[in-house]
Amino acid sequence: MRRKMAAGNWKMNGSRKALSELDAMAPHAAAGAAEVLICPPAPLIALAAAHSTEIAIGAQDCHNKPSGAHTGDTSAAILADAGATHVITGHSERRTDHGERDADVAAKTAAAFEAGLVAIVCVGETLAERDAGKTLDVVGTQLAGSLPDRASAASLVVAYEPVWAIGTGKVPTLEQIAEVHDFMRAALETRFGSDGAGVRLLYGGSVKPGNAAEIFAVPNVDGALVGGASLKADDFGAIIDALNAA
Ligand code: PEP
Repeated sequence: MRRKMAAGNWKMNGSRKALSELDAMAPHAAAGAAEVLICPPAPLIALAAAHSTEIAIGAQDCHNKPSGAHTGDTSAAILADAGATHVITGHSERRTDHGERDADVAAKTAAAFEAGLVAIVCVGETLAERDAGKTLDVVGTQLAGSLPDRASAASLVVAYEPVWAIGTGKVPTLEQIAEVHDFMRAALETRFGSDGAGVRLLYGGSVKPGNAAEIFAVPNVDGALVGGASLKADDFGAIIDALNAA
């Protein structure tokens, strides 16, 4: 049985004041069995973790080394020490803005496991790749390259995030989501056996209160990674409610 997950990615948004949104989200998280996670900017992690009991706190990125001369970077061990329990790796904005390749994502994900963090590894195609009929090839290649061998159902979550759906209001059809999630499940089972069957698969890209329920009804969708709609408790609370009802 896979525990459903609603994960919010605040990206480079938020403030100490905005942590009050966590208080308003907490009753939604407490009302059901789904795991609820918010990933604020790194400087807010320790405060958020101290602030929140119902909602787990995660990071948006980590370095692949536990410590050392890497100015401006944050290791998974430091994130864990600050109170993070999860970290997103391989988000398309990191892949684009920072040139992260699959091997970099795999190294960061391995570092997350080493520090005891759950890694949420993101994969997804661009619009040009989808239009060229390459979606499954791209997702398959990213999955193969971005996941270290030492992955388990407990330590790994995979998020399918079509790049063209992030922050655009565009969402794949339910059939397109199902096709990719079924494909990812098969690939994970082939590589990791029964652990692959237990890895949670999130959909991400313009999930809103109005489309969450239908997305959560798609087989092999175990929850969502949510950007914009995770900033406000009204929206994210409604998404959590839809997940708890799914
Ligand atoms: C994201 O960036 O992970 C994301 C899914 O963003 P949005 O929900 O805003 O499309």
